[in-house]
Amino acid sequence: MTDTLQEFTLVDLLPRSDSQSWEEAACKGDPNHEAWFPYPSQDFAYAREVCADCPIRRQCGEFAANTGQSGVWGGHEYDRGRMIRR
Ligand code: SF4
Repeated sequence: MTDTLQEFTLVDLLPRSDSQSWEEAACKGDPNHEAWFPYPSQDFAYAREVCADCPIRRQCGEFAANTGQSGVWGGHEYDRGRMIRR
């Protein structure tokens, strides 16, 4: 990943063609980029707390599962679309 890409959050990286309401995402503009892609031994309490107040939480998790995403989505961690931590 380049320095330029690290300026973006998850929702910034989503395809523009996707119809989800990503503008409402609670993580939009979040500066803690690494918190959304934790190491296996790393807690993701920070990301989980941000997701807890997100109005599109359910849709976000469904998107991650349906499109094979990795990282924290909808308050859970995914690995290529499979939920690995709740
Ligand atoms: S549920 Fe979490 S990861 Fe998904 S858009 Fe909302 S804040 Fe971002």
